[in-house]
Amino acid sequence: MMIIMRTEATQSQIASVVARIEKQGLRAHISHGAERTAIGAIGDGRLINRDTYILLPGVDRVVSISRPYKLASREFCPEDSGFPVDGVHVRPGQVLLIAGPCAVESRSQMLEVAQAVHEAGAHALRGGAYKPRTSPYSFQGLGKEGLEILAEARELTGLPVITEVMAPEKVSLVAEYADVLQIGARNMQNYALLRAVGESHQPVLLKRGMSATIKDLLMAAEYILSHDNERVMLCERGIRTFETATRNTTDINAIPVLKSLTHLPVILDPSHSTGHWEFVSAVARAGIAAGADGLMVEVHPHPEEALSDGGQSLRPKRFAELVEEVKSIAEAMGRKVPPQPVPKLED
Ligand code: PEP
Ligand code: MN
Repeated sequence: MMIIMRTEATQSQIASVVARIEKQGLRAHISHGAERTAIGAIGDGRLINRDTYILLPGVDRVVSISRPYKLASREFCPEDSGFPVDGVHVRPGQVLLIAGPCAVESRSQMLEVAQAVHEAGAHALRGGAYKPRTSPYSFQGLGKEGLEILAEARELTGLPVITEVMAPEKVSLVAEYADVLQIGARNMQNYALLRAVGESHQPVLLKRGMSATIKDLLMAAEYILSHDNERVMLCERGIRTFETATRNTTDINAIPVLKSLTHLPVILDPSHSTGHWEFVSAVARAGIAAGADGLMVEVHPHPEEALSDGGQSLRPKRFAELVEEVKSIAEAMGRKVPPQPVPKLED
């Protein structure tokens, strides 16, 4: 249930609504809109006595949220949400470009690709230090050393860093280095991890599980949001179907469907969606045309030598071409690719 306050509602009127919610054994979630404050009463709906709120001073109306995901729903927040990520903004109407290798393999590889994607126009860097590999014999990532290299790549380029965290006990370490915590497809329903990244209050990119429905994805997002972390982006990365010509099947439908159901930003990963570099740009373009708020693309300077996902990685030159294509499509859709973050000056 949402309690929408009048535009002229005072702080003390807001506080008494919050106190009433908490007295009923529920949690109050305040969102300050441009014009008015809305207060969500989160918890067991049976505890809510709707009528008592309508009569409180400063209350305009009381709205029930029909979806099982409350904080993630459009009913809760009709406007697209956005938030700053160290120098760049995830912002409605803008297209965020995240690029980098599947895994941080070495200092020289990461710094080379970081500079290349920066020159090509990326807004944020990706690179896995902890890799969820299907085989235990495959490269598992450089761990803490990988995080340190990512931090150096951020220093060099000024681009914020997105990297995966796989276990709750690693959240604080990864959060020390990363600007955005990535939850991988295989961990989308790891509730202990979702809770831990929620409590970290660090921006999160939540990838859709390969067999997860759109509702499952939104319920997973709800875990993070309900632990007081509003800075969540969703990522469509392809789902398992009977088709074997590509690694996964891009659920392009998910983009407009998610945009209608939730206010959260929606990013498309065309690399894991397709699994083949030849198809990445076409699907990336389709994602932007379908309304995605950004792309996360795997880029490697020498894909033939990559320790993971070389076959789906674009070379920097091809990525730079894709950036230009995306700019044209974004413009045709009335959106724009924002400027890159400006590197911080040394003191
Ligand atoms: C990745 O982004 O490198 C990754 C492992 O993706 P996913 O979790 O979508 O498979
Ligand atoms: Mn990968």
